[in-house]
Amino acid sequence: MAFKDPKYDKPIQLRKTRRPKQLAVINQSGCTGCMVCIDFCPADCILVVPGPDPSAPTVHKLVEVDLPRCIGCTLCAKYCPWETISMLEFDDGYKKAEEWTIRTVLGEIIEPVPAAVPTAPRAAARRPAHAEAE
Ligand code: SF4
Ligand code: SF4
Repeated sequence: MAFKDPKYDKPIQLRKTRRPKQLAVINQSGCTGCMVCIDFCPADCILVVPGPDPSAPTVHKLVEVDLPRCIGCTLCAKYCPWETISMLEFDDGYKKAEEWTIRTVLGEIIEPVPAAVPTAPRAAARRPAHAEAE
């Protein structure tokens, strides 16, 4: 059965290593963003992602497992102090990841905030006083 990675929309068959029996899935509603799990991951596949409030993405940053790179070693689940990482059967892991990943849900309903463009008066205000005198 063909599954697609929910983040990159890539077929799972592109995985170069052997398919692990289990995958680590983080229930982000219980994640404190402590980042302890990152230090234990031998595959370096736990990523820091923006916090749940789209107007303040740097507040309460969360983590997310890049599932195609997870080797299922279980270390992150073992050492997460908040017990919010579950080891799930490979196929179940992808299904639960969509349900438990806040960023994925937000991505469907929140439009990106346009970048602020500096205005001319603000640029003038930053100019040093001696530059005005010249
Ligand atoms: S160790 Fe647990 S609570 Fe801490 S960032 Fe990782 S998943 Fe979140
Ligand atoms: S199970 Fe192992 S490889 Fe997968 S995210 Fe956790 S520590 Fe990393």
